[in-house]
Amino acid sequence: MGAPEAFTRTADVGHWIGGAPTRGSGTRSQTVWNPATGAAARQVLLAAEADVAAAVASARAAQPAWAEMPPIRRARVLNAFLALLNQHKDRLAAMITAEHGKVFSDAQGEVMRGIDIVEFACGIPQLLKGDYTDQVSTGIDNWTLRQPLGVVAGITPFNFPCMVPCWMFPVALACGNAFILKPSERDPSAGLFMAELLQQAGLPDGVFNVVQGDKVAVEALLAHPDVKAVSFVGSTPIAQYIYETGAHHGKRVQALGGAKNHMVVMPDANLDQAVDALIGSAYGSAGERCMAISVAVLVGDVGERIVPLLAERARTLKVRNGMESDAEMGPIVTREARDRIENYIALGVQEGATLVVDGRGCKVPGHEAGFFTGGTLFDHVRPDMRIYREEIFGPVLACVRAKDFAEAVQLVNEHEFGNGVSCFTSDGGVAREFARRIQVGMVGINVPIPVPMAWHGFGGWKKSLFGDMHAYGEEGVRFYTKQKSVMQRWPDSIGKGAEFAMPVAR
Ligand code: NAD
Repeated sequence: MGAPEAFTRTADVGHWIGGAPTRGSGTRSQTVWNPATGAAARQVLLAAEADVAAAVASARAAQPAWAEMPPIRRARVLNAFLALLNQHKDRLAAMITAEHGKVFSDAQGEVMRGIDIVEFACGIPQLLKGDYTDQVSTGIDNWTLRQPLGVVAGITPFNFPCMVPCWMFPVALACGNAFILKPSERDPSAGLFMAELLQQAGLPDGVFNVVQGDKVAVEALLAHPDVKAVSFVGSTPIAQYIYETGAHHGKRVQALGGAKNHMVVMPDANLDQAVDALIGSAYGSAGERCMAISVAVLVGDVGERIVPLLAERARTLKVRNGMESDAEMGPIVTREARDRIENYIALGVQEGATLVVDGRGCKVPGHEAGFFTGGTLFDHVRPDMRIYREEIFGPVLACVRAKDFAEAVQLVNEHEFGNGVSCFTSDGGVAREFARRIQVGMVGINVPIPVPMAWHGFGGWKKSLFGDMHAYGEEGVRFYTKQKSVMQRWPDSIGKGAEFAMPVAR
């Protein structure tokens, strides 16, 4: 197999409204960077309120006919989209690497995890099958069905420009809704490309729209009376704001926030496996994953044994342009994000943590202006430090020592985030206790990044999720539909006159 083709398009990235690309009002734009070279790659247009209104109007006009289409025919459109995604998956992955920076094989993995959800959504006829009770009372039947909400919106983060939108729109569309995607302005191309593929798959114009933009577009979506639900994934302060503002405007909202995921390593864990797991999950995608492990909780004597092994591996990580075949870690998404991460490393030193490996100032030959930082390892981090409490969202692993299992569990449970967690042990009893007692939404036992499969649903606890429904899976189907209960009686069983008491089964 030859080298993957890099994504080098320089044209402005605009919106997709009513089945066609558009510059919209086109008054504001922002630079999209190539983080590996540090060069400005293209401009993304930023929607004005009028552009959002145009997208919502187009979605509202298209949605009733889409909802009328039998679910199996909607599933066929998604099946055609699935085939196109498979056909173009490397092109999508190259777009992601070009704008996000993650290594190409990781971007391919992201696209595959998005494809999983499309496959799940293709089963919508089965998922929408309702409940039916014959004869709830003499001559009366009762059944439940789920109907679409109408126009729904998704606001997504930079770190998974294909996968996270796919957590939302395939399920929303399959349920009969029209969808408006507001991708991250830092890597906007993947969302636009998926709109083109959906059209090629036969999706009617207006059913899927993309508005590129920032806070202006988000606020317009939150305030628009025709947007019935909002799915958000991003940082915790914005997630909370989206949840509160969306609810204020009477919308259904699911808002997934930030994370600080712990991996507890018990003294009986297989150390080689634990080292591999920590290195991959802390430094993969340069730590810019909501399920990255950023805290290692080293129980008993594990710290003395494992830290030298982690240090050796962190020091020798292959930090490269993500399109290079041997790259293990690419650049950080923007210069500002890289500087923020490096400021956190300086803060950790000030706070008194032991800096075992310092990734700051990492230079990649031939890419001197790229936004790189190396893998960083801290030891003896304490729970009162900001580098422990706050999400750094970069390749920084903080090791915390715990005397025993109970202390490790307490540490995890007291943290304000509760997205993912993992425990490495060879004791089934410990593993069971851990899974039952831990106050976190997604748990891995000897699995470092337990991202649930398409039919299980994704969601954290505490400050990692605002709302009561997880993304995708059956929770996703429930989120994008409303339940209707129908009770039916036919005239020949009617005829006892008005009843004023509460009806009961007869
Ligand atoms: P972000 O919160 O900065 O941006 C997310 C989205 O919100 C973007 O579309 C952005 O344009 C928009 N936005 C940003 N500021 C806004 C504002 N003031 N008002 C309205 N909208 C605004 O997040 P990010 O930096 O793109 O992504 C990284 C964050 O996302 C991390 O905190 C990470 O943990 C989180 N994340 C969480 C999950 C999860 O499943 N819980 C998954 C992926 C990423």
